[in-house]
Amino acid sequence: MTPATVIHELGHSVVCVAHGYKQSIQIDSMSASSYCYSSEMGDSYLFKAFGGLLASIVMLAPIASAKIRSIIWIAIPLVVLGISHAINAFIETAFYDFYITDNSILPQLLMMISLVLFFGLLIKYGRV
Ligand SMILES: [Zn+2]
Repeated sequence: MTPATVIHELGHSVVCVAHGYKQSIQIDSMSASSYCYSSEMGDSYLFKAFGGLLASIVMLAPIASAKIRSIIWIAIPLVVLGISHAINAFIETAFYDFYITDNSILPQLLMMISLVLFFGLLIKYGRV
């Protein structure tokens, strides 16, 4: 689990609270999850998407700085986290029922995409 995961859950929670519902976030050493005490929020595209979108925005925003881009060991993880959370937002929104019930295929697929992206960027830009 990364700080981006907590930001992801905060994104879902912000939308939940903005609609007037109670929410909870559970964080342990391996994962984080949030729960919105509403049956309506499962129908909200904003609720489904905003976790990944917020994490993606927060991770990619520092890349706008040339100083951050020049520090490659910071830039590469930020890009990987930003892109993987954007992909996560798409999957979570488009395939929500599968996303919330699947514990094996999607986490492994997202991890594989992140690893390929990480090592691809490392090979291309990580040389000194
Ligand atoms: Zn989510």
